[in-house]
Amino acid sequence: MKAPSFDYIRPGSVDEVLELLATHGDDARILAGGQTLMATLNMRLSEPELLIDINAIESLKGIELRQGALWIGAMARHSHVEDSPLVAEHAPMLAQAAPHVAHRAIRNQGTFGGSIAFADPAAEWPACIVALDAVLHLAGRQGVRKVPAVEFFLDLYTTELAADEVLLGCEIPILAPGRAQVFQELARRHGDYAIVGVAAAANLRGGVFHDMRLVFLGMDNTPARALDVEQWLEGKAPDEQALAQARQLLDDVLQPSADLYNSTATKMHLAGVLMGRVLRKLAETA
Ligand code: FAD
Repeated sequence: MKAPSFDYIRPGSVDEVLELLATHGDDARILAGGQTLMATLNMRLSEPELLIDINAIESLKGIELRQGALWIGAMARHSHVEDSPLVAEHAPMLAQAAPHVAHRAIRNQGTFGGSIAFADPAAEWPACIVALDAVLHLAGRQGVRKVPAVEFFLDLYTTELAADEVLLGCEIPILAPGRAQVFQELARRHGDYAIVGVAAAANLRGGVFHDMRLVFLGMDNTPARALDVEQWLEGKAPDEQALAQARQLLDDVLQPSADLYNSTATKMHLAGVLMGRVLRKLAETA
């Protein structure tokens, strides 16, 4: 199918985008990498009258250190995140997750901010930024508001981002000494959306886990933080007994719906297996 007809504009600044959003309201849509939006237009799932292309806005593109945190601009391509030495050093979870985001051709075009704004429950970046305690910067006509990633994802494809706001980027605390980050996922084929994935971070002090973050993708409408398991693992040594008990506890924490290919039981089994691998890897790395 072909997309319905629309007007197109390519502003050079965030202020111009905000002006356009205020004028056109729900009739306008931001175009970033277009890897999701163009498909929804072609399938006529969405029929905006105006596309606001933000690819010319240089201020949205950088990956840099800002005031002691890692800053990833909304228009950083997935492949820029994948190739960035700053990301590899200060947020290695993202470097591990990047090769799982579709295929390189899509990663060259799709953006970090587009994925977060779209909020697909099986996407990698949303779960990662929750596990990293990141903060999102959202620009509106009243100024910039900062929303912790853990509060940003509200429901299926639904976020805190209002229709007249622009996601500027994401502020990520840099990896502290003694802390480890691990990302793993299971998909039917490489490049497919995950069946289940886990973004995890923890410290290992005195041979026991501290400050665990365990966030699953593909298991709920939003990134699913396994808070009870995180709390239970606090102060526990990463031995096989603790891992087995954590896996049992996970059954009470996650209730994924079946999809076309996987039953709830299959998904829970895979989530348990993956969590065991990730916890072992965290213990090796920390
Ligand atoms: P667009 O398609 O341009 O926009 C998506 C939505 O976000 C639109 O509603 C747009 O208005 C809004 N938006 C974009 N940027 C902003 C902003 N700065 N502020 C406010 N709103 C904004 N993704 C994965 O995570 N994992 C995968 O395994 C995966 N596999 C894929 C396989 C295929 C074949 C394809 C085509 C895509 C796949 N994707 C996958 C999706 C890909 O990551 C997209 O790049 C991403 O979801 C959207 O980013 P985009 O830059 O293309 O955004």
